[in-house]
Amino acid sequence: MVEKVVVIGSGPAGWTSAIYAARAELQPLVFEGAWTEENRLAGTLPLGQLALTTEVENFPGFPAGDLESYLDNSIDESSRQIMAPHEKAGVSGPELMNLMKQQAINFGTRIETDDVVEVDLDSRPFKLKSLGGREVEAHTLIIATGARANYLGLESEDAFKNRGVSACAVCDGAIPRFRDVPLVVVGGGDSAVEEADYLTKFASTVYMIHRRDELRASKIMQQRALNNDKIEVVWSHTLQEVLGNDEDGVTGVRLASTKDDSTKELECAGVFLAIGHTPNTAFLSGKLDMNEKGYVTWTTAGRTYTSVEGVFAAGDVADDYYRQAITAAGTGCMAALDAERYLAAKGL
Ligand code: NAP
Repeated sequence: MVEKVVVIGSGPAGWTSAIYAARAELQPLVFEGAWTEENRLAGTLPLGQLALTTEVENFPGFPAGDLESYLDNSIDESSRQIMAPHEKAGVSGPELMNLMKQQAINFGTRIETDDVVEVDLDSRPFKLKSLGGREVEAHTLIIATGARANYLGLESEDAFKNRGVSACAVCDGAIPRFRDVPLVVVGGGDSAVEEADYLTKFASTVYMIHRRDELRASKIMQQRALNNDKIEVVWSHTLQEVLGNDEDGVTGVRLASTKDDSTKELECAGVFLAIGHTPNTAFLSGKLDMNEKGYVTWTTAGRTYTSVEGVFAAGDVADDYYRQAITAAGTGCMAALDAERYLAAKGL
């Protein structure tokens, strides 16, 4: 059997494209990724980056606060057909992803909990191979594999992964070794602030190490960092080495100034990297046009077309600029509509 639509990836772009493709009766098959240790370490487990976050405050439709009062005040009783509001406010990243997944399943989406490791985009239909050995043929592909957190590439960073070095505060922050001790977050963007803010739940102090003297984070996130007494920003420094030993894991960091030749050491039990992302496109290397950072390029303005006809890209894998859950969901919808129109035009 040749699949009409195969979606690779299980973040907001993947599930939204599946919801739309399923509702168009295209019976999409989603490769949601595999639960491997390698994926855990890389931050590429099923349900994507949102599954590694806490509250999602900016996905429209999920306001934090007293939802019932908002609805009481704004919607006439007779029009109240939407979901029964419950006490809990807002939505978390993992909840949002599971809700999207369920919505896709409700319309008949099928799911493979496996990674696609090889694609042949020269043949028609396209051919895919999974880590688990499954071979699938597809008339259209929607690439929605997202992006993952970067590391600096220091030897010492690698040596202490899982023993104090992490790129995901939400995944690892609550473990006992990080309680009531100083921690370090590297980076100056929204992710760095989010991680630092989250870690103050556990740490005695969180040092944010930033290479410049101005944060990249949005104004509201900057305020969050600067107003949090437990966060101390160390301006104009980079992480030179993670310090530690076999017995204790991470015990500190050596920082290098970006203004002069000086270095300094800080004691800490954990180092969290928050220095941007890399798209998950290794399995597509040489098969699709990508930009210099490895993001899949959209070839037509306002469309999700890629350099191979019948292959569409959605979400962060093709977007190094907006990178939001809502934009990923939006382009996921577009990719499904593009795939549907392509199939119709080809009579497939
Ligand atoms: P980002 O905005 O690209 O920020 C990366 C940070 O890491 C920058 O401060 C950068 O420094 C620093 N950096 C990069 N490479 C480095 C290196 N080799 N050594 C030292 N520092 C390095 O990435 P992000 O924070 O992950 O955010 C990505 C996107 O997701 C953004 O659009 C952001 O708005 C969004 N996001 C939003 C939220 C939210 O709204 N709650 C939360 C997380 C992410 P420079 O500033 O000097 O370049």
